[in-house]
Amino acid sequence: MGADIAIDLGTSRTRIYLENKGIMVDEPSVITVNHENDSIVAVGEEAYRMLGRTSERFSAIYPLSGGVISDLGLVEAMISTFLTRVTSARIGMPRAVACVPGEITEVEKRAVVNAISCCGIRRVCLIEEPVAAAIGAGIDISSPHGAFVADIGGGTTDMAVISLSGIAVSRSVKQAGNIMDDEIIKYVKRRYNMLIGKRMAEDAKKAIGCVVKGAAIGKYRIKGKSIVTGMPAWADMDAEEMIEPLRETADIIVGHIQDVLEETPPELIGDIHSDGITLTGGASQIAGLDKLISAATDLKVRIAENPADCVVNGCGDSLKYIDIIRRNDSMVSPITDRY
Ligand code: ADP
Ligand code: MG
Repeated sequence: MGADIAIDLGTSRTRIYLENKGIMVDEPSVITVNHENDSIVAVGEEAYRMLGRTSERFSAIYPLSGGVISDLGLVEAMISTFLTRVTSARIGMPRAVACVPGEITEVEKRAVVNAISCCGIRRVCLIEEPVAAAIGAGIDISSPHGAFVADIGGGTTDMAVISLSGIAVSRSVKQAGNIMDDEIIKYVKRRYNMLIGKRMAEDAKKAIGCVVKGAAIGKYRIKGKSIVTGMPAWADMDAEEMIEPLRETADIIVGHIQDVLEETPPELIGDIHSDGITLTGGASQIAGLDKLISAATDLKVRIAENPADCVVNGCGDSLKYIDIIRRNDSMVSPITDRY
């Protein structure tokens, strides 16, 4: 029998974890299609490099948006390509645990299961993303103790208070890394009369992105096209300038975290007061975001180790429950095979 696998089908990146091996795939969730014959030209890293550089014949697409599948056929093609990179011969028909955002519909969950089953997976179990994030961040989710996790990714920020392997309070908002990239594009257009692509904006954000003064230092050379002359142009953007395009999104995220805290029952709030908030997801690394959240909530804020890998590592860890739910043990399991 093949090794079981864990799949984090993220809006920005897809990560696949192989039992006993760890993360084997970590690539952009992008696929390039040739419209003339509907064939797949490239997937993952290679397709990402084509973003903004495609012709009429080809287009590079993110087939997920806001954590939800927007093009089922393309997601299936993307997953099956990634799976061939994990196991050369898929005769073993492994089992999988995949994560889904906390607040998606039953139909959307079913779509995730279908997309994965189509790729030769024998059995697909689901885990809620914030629960996986918490496990991956090293939190003991099975204890009767409240833990606050905020996963700040590309498409969404998912916040949850977790206790006894389940979600006590949660919220998912479409305010995260991608919106920040869009804001950088708008800022550069206003400030420098320059058009830049999404990838340039994302690179600049990763290099010097910050939301409070002094959290990041240095300059980043952004390259694009002058609105005035239509010719290639560049500018050296200072880290401090990043606060203007990024701060609004950060403040909105902070507001939602405060709302979730308000909705949290008193006993659990006491736990969070002593343990603080744990951040996961790629965009939790924006310089100063942890400090901003800490100042607004008066709580300790910790960024998990390798924050972007927490969800897939948590899914990987929960592979151990697959056999337990099959035996129908009464033990609390964070995964379900209901779909
Ligand atoms: P998803 O689960 O939505 O696919 P991830 O958790 O992988 O997303 O996070 C992706 C987001 O994190 C992207 O918007 C990316 O630009 C951002 N990101 C990744 N690394 C960094 C970094 N070092 N600093 C700031 N943002 C980052
Ligand atoms: Mg994610």
